[in-house]
Amino acid sequence: MKKISLLGSTGSIGTQTLDVVKHQPDRFEIVGLSAGSNVELVIEQAQVFKPSIVSLATKELADQARPHLPTGTKVVYGEQGLIEVAAGTDADMVVTAIVGSMGLPATLAAIDAGKTIGLANKETLVTAGHIVMERAKQRKVAILPIDSEHSAIFQCLNGEQRQGVKGITLTASGGSFRDRSRAELEGVTVTEALNHPNWSMGAKITIDSATMINKGLEVIEARWLFDLTYDQIDVLIHPESIIHSYVEFNDHSIVAQLGMPDMRVPIQYALTYPERIVTPTERLNLASIGKLNFRAMDFERFPCLRLAFECGRMGQSAPTVLNAANEVAVARFLNGEITFLDIERVLETIVGRHEVCNINDLETIAEVDEWARSLAASV
Ligand code: NAD
Ligand code: MG
Repeated sequence: MKKISLLGSTGSIGTQTLDVVKHQPDRFEIVGLSAGSNVELVIEQAQVFKPSIVSLATKELADQARPHLPTGTKVVYGEQGLIEVAAGTDADMVVTAIVGSMGLPATLAAIDAGKTIGLANKETLVTAGHIVMERAKQRKVAILPIDSEHSAIFQCLNGEQRQGVKGITLTASGGSFRDRSRAELEGVTVTEALNHPNWSMGAKITIDSATMINKGLEVIEARWLFDLTYDQIDVLIHPESIIHSYVEFNDHSIVAQLGMPDMRVPIQYALTYPERIVTPTERLNLASIGKLNFRAMDFERFPCLRLAFECGRMGQSAPTVLNAANEVAVARFLNGEITFLDIERVLETIVGRHEVCNINDLETIAEVDEWARSLAASV
């Protein structure tokens, strides 16, 4: 039995992780669940999976949940509660399916406690990649990617010698507005932006896909997961999301990973690695798909991706600032406070005003993150 703690159990990745677990009851046991404010769903999940601990965002929410949880399930809350679910159980593995850089302290706590990490929460690597990777190396903890592109790269690198790698290419569906010109982005609505053509995901990542900052965050995520330079990372538009990403080797061989767009495949691979077992997902039939399309990434059409490469190359505090500003800008767009194109304007402004500094500890990261958030909330 592999014991799993799941951070962000009520979200898109969280519920799909539980779906994978449900299909393999002899293999996996859920020992911890953490959710934000969806009390009803986390109660339902706790009744099915009977974890030893459940965490909610606030004390009020925890009090609401308590009477409905199975006997023997402890309830905690807040940042400390999240850390307890991440590090205070006998889990072998922690799946980080929370959204945003708020997942960082819990991820580090899980690493310190020696838990294998199934990482979906890409913002933690964008905001503090060097600290997370260094800590994982020190504690000899594996970080297994769940993000589909990174799972693909991870699979393509299986058994390969690192010095043979020329570079990687992350594929991008193009998001909700891939067929619109920049002029056609004026006045788009939240509902339109939330309508992703290939994937059903949480609101934040769906907007991130539409602005293409998601691919930028993934470039930075890949830099840390696979220890690559930015010159080794390329991005290609591939509207069908069938090729999930690929590696090119020095001999010009390309190894790609393909499949139907279904997050349960990379989730399950992280959970069973290095084993491969049956999944409840659909098989890929290339004959029925017929053809796949590709086009070069247009950095003028998607300036957020350009900005992410720039911040990645600047390094130090720049990605932290980009990520924090983006979290706030996306929340403001979803609230109807700013327009879709304002998101990139906010990012350009905050990054432009920031003086890059060293960030070698969590306190400095928190300060820089807070600076970017408060400016992004008012600009
Ligand atoms: P989501 O919004 O659907 O779910 C987020 C989860 O975080 C929810 O369970 C929510 O309750 C929890 N949460 C929010 N605030 C919280 C708080 N204060 N305390 C504790 N928990 C809190 O998001 P998602 O789409 O599942 O994405 C999760 C992460 O996975 C993101 O980093 C995203 O970039 C990444 N990811 C998602 C997908 C996908 O298909 N959805 C694919 C690749 C990567
Ligand atoms: Mg992805």
